[in-house]
Amino acid sequence: MKAETLLAHAGYDSDESTGSVIPPIHLSTTFQRDTAGEYAHGFVYSRAANPTRRQFEALMTQLEGGAGALAFSSGMAACSGIFSCLEPGSRVLIPEDLYYGVRKVLTDVFSRWDVEFATVDMTDLAAVEMELGARCDLVWIETPSNPMLDIVDISAVADLARRTGSTVVVDGTWTTPLLQRPLEMGAHAVVHSVTKYLSGHSDVLGGVVVTASDFPWGDRLESVHASYGAVLDPFSCWLAMRGLRTLAVRLASQCHNAFALATHLAAHQNVVAVYYPGLAFHPGHDVATRQMSAFGGMLSFEVDGDEHRARDVVNRCRVFKRATSLGGTESLIEHRASIEENSTAPGALIRVSAGIEHTDDLLHDLLHALG
Ligand SMILES: *Cc1c(COP(=O)(O)O)cnc(C)c1O
Repeated sequence: MKAETLLAHAGYDSDESTGSVIPPIHLSTTFQRDTAGEYAHGFVYSRAANPTRRQFEALMTQLEGGAGALAFSSGMAACSGIFSCLEPGSRVLIPEDLYYGVRKVLTDVFSRWDVEFATVDMTDLAAVEMELGARCDLVWIETPSNPMLDIVDISAVADLARRTGSTVVVDGTWTTPLLQRPLEMGAHAVVHSVTKYLSGHSDVLGGVVVTASDFPWGDRLESVHASYGAVLDPFSCWLAMRGLRTLAVRLASQCHNAFALATHLAAHQNVVAVYYPGLAFHPGHDVATRQMSAFGGMLSFEVDGDEHRARDVVNRCRVFKRATSLGGTESLIEHRASIEENSTAPGALIRVSAGIEHTDDLLHDLLHALG
């Protein structure tokens, strides 16, 4: 079955006891033992496992072609779950440009576990190989990266990392299982912020880790998940599955809108740079063409001017909402440098999450704001 078909049914095949086409939400935190003291259905207590969460995890496993999945209470809880599998003294390789929360949790929290991290331009394979010469326990890939849309060759980096015995994890939030298949390219696991495209309506906070059969820390991750208890609640799992039903059509529209915006911005006299892997001049265009089935709904650009000029453009938009986050049906626009602590984003950079509005309305709004 194709992913679109699986998604349309949210992997659900009607409830045997009632015939309901849409799954129920299992809110029960606890489950009854039989008189012999056994749990006939395998559920004991919802921090450890819950039927609705199990259903969402099974769907994500199928979508990514993985061996298993665990749903967390946020994307950062999912990322932190992976970092919690590391031994003290481990070394992690991260790309120069990535979601700032990942660098922040490594700096603020995991440094106290003696986990070190090194930063490398992951678009430069020679530089990656050099870094892998020193001990490295985990290679963390994010592509396209946030907010500069750097493209990392997942297969090439995974190949180098596997030769040195490193575990490879890809943050797939910006691509979803529909645009990019990290596990098929050699990653041991893929993490998603469910908050973004997967749930898709800016009303669920969640995360998920999908692991391949050779992910080395499966038991550890399960224990971290259930012991920390940063698990996704049943209602959020249900909302995420409801959102996933329309992922394919939402994403097609978002990719179409992002491409149109990027093309028009690239031709605009008040724009000095556009970062979108679908543009032929993007340095990662060839790799992106190879490893992505479409170029995604995210783009960034720099206006001709300073930070004030960028904020002025953002403020003049009417259709785009001025907000962080991404992947919802509504288009979002943000001045990136002023939302991140110690941001590395250029002052004139504006990040856009394309929604599913009519392309003409988005183009008109942004081009008008640019003057
Ligand atoms: C949003 C995001 C995260 C963190 O997810 P939360 O659900 O906000 O905790 C991680 N990685 C990327 C690429 C993101 O966009």
